[in-house]
Amino acid sequence: MLNIVLFGPPGAGKGTVAKKLARQENIVHLSTGDMLREEIERASALGKEAEQLIARGALVPDETVVAMVREFVKRKMPCNGFIFDGFPRTTEQAEALDAIMTAQGTAITMMIALEVSEDEIIRRMLNRAAIEGRPDDTMDVIRQRIATYHEKIQITSGYYRAQNKYRTADSSRTPEYTLQQILSIIQQAGRATT
Ligand code: AMP
Repeated sequence: MLNIVLFGPPGAGKGTVAKKLARQENIVHLSTGDMLREEIERASALGKEAEQLIARGALVPDETVVAMVREFVKRKMPCNGFIFDGFPRTTEQAEALDAIMTAQGTAITMMIALEVSEDEIIRRMLNRAAIEGRPDDTMDVIRQRIATYHEKIQITSGYYRAQNKYRTADSSRTPEYTLQQILSIIQQAGRATT
């Protein structure tokens, strides 16, 4: 199986790349943010609990997110693999994900972080803000979102670096270019293990 943890700052095109990669490799895309938003829309007990936290910009408790991912993975098995998007965000979640994978007789193949310069992120987000007219896409808020991302990625990248499973891909050009790099990283890893 091919099990990728995908990270990327806001404006890196992570959603687009994740969907392309899932299609190309015939693997399942799992976004905890999307799953939580669906729960909120359905007004489930979990959704009601998550709504307040998400609105405050706080993380949903590890046990809640982990249980959600565990059920999802079980439901999708057997399959060729997964792209985890927005998960894991804490060391506890990373450890729980390893346990979930082990229980399914597989493992995380690698974590890939999309890299794009701060100037380019700001340029893309201001561009999007001009089109969508969102009042919160100001320079200050964008900088804050980038800072939060850097904080989170320290934790997760450290976890996978220690296992020699951390890779980066340049995301400063087109989504197709990013995808090609990811595919070549995956190929190289495959060659290294065979
Ligand atoms: P995202 O769409 O990935 O930016 O997630 C939106 C919000 O959902 C986050 O700000 C968190 O409140 C919550 N969330 C998503 N994924 C996780 C996770 N792995 N752990 C905890 N909270 C999460």
